[in-house]
Amino acid sequence: MNIKDRITALKEEIPPNCTLVAVSKTKPVSDILMAYEAGHLDFGENKVQELTQKADTMPKDIRWHMIGHLQRNKVKYIVPFVHLIHGVDSSRLLSEIDKQGGKIGRVIDCLLQVDISNEETKFGFDQEELVELLRTGLKDMKWVQVRGLMGMASNTTDMDRVRAEFRSLKNLIEKLKKENFHERVSMEILSMGMSGDYQVAIEEGSNLVRVGSLIFGERNYA
Ligand SMILES: *Cc1c(COP(=O)(O)O)cnc(C)c1O
Repeated sequence: MNIKDRITALKEEIPPNCTLVAVSKTKPVSDILMAYEAGHLDFGENKVQELTQKADTMPKDIRWHMIGHLQRNKVKYIVPFVHLIHGVDSSRLLSEIDKQGGKIGRVIDCLLQVDISNEETKFGFDQEELVELLRTGLKDMKWVQVRGLMGMASNTTDMDRVRAEFRSLKNLIEKLKKENFHERVSMEILSMGMSGDYQVAIEEGSNLVRVGSLIFGERNYA
């Protein structure tokens, strides 16, 4: 199967309320165009430089998702066009996004990344920090909209563990939905699931999956 067939098959498989973000990191523009020609508009990248270069050359109706770890000094390069920033993992990063959004008068949609795996390498808030930020940390912010949560399960073949991690994030977002936070918080997006675990993630309540290698093939990191 080629890219066009794979993305079409995947879109038929996942439920209509679930957004598919095609993760195109390390892949050439020609690959992205094949998915675009199949009618796909949501693409994810994890490096600022690669994201801005691709966004410059690609059709303007593409919705670019920043899914990787984002450094504060690079926020300014993506705020003019980014559709959704998935990996907000500190309140300092969120305030920088607010500041840069304010400079150009654009409200930036963000997801807060939650550390659900307890692996040392993963970024993200723990649950207490997150609630603290939502309760008090956003009071002066006007240029961010916190639209939900993002999480990555452990890199393991133990699907029971992966499922439990996804379930904990779903429980958390349901709990948060009941609270009345700042007007800049709305908890409708739950971004979880990648090539190896998107089916489990959807069963556990994900409504946005980030799938790369299953669409574009394995990545070669030179
Ligand atoms: C690379 C990446 C993905 C996609 O990974 P695949 O296993 O290729 O589907 C999803 N989410 C994040 C945050 C990533 O960095």
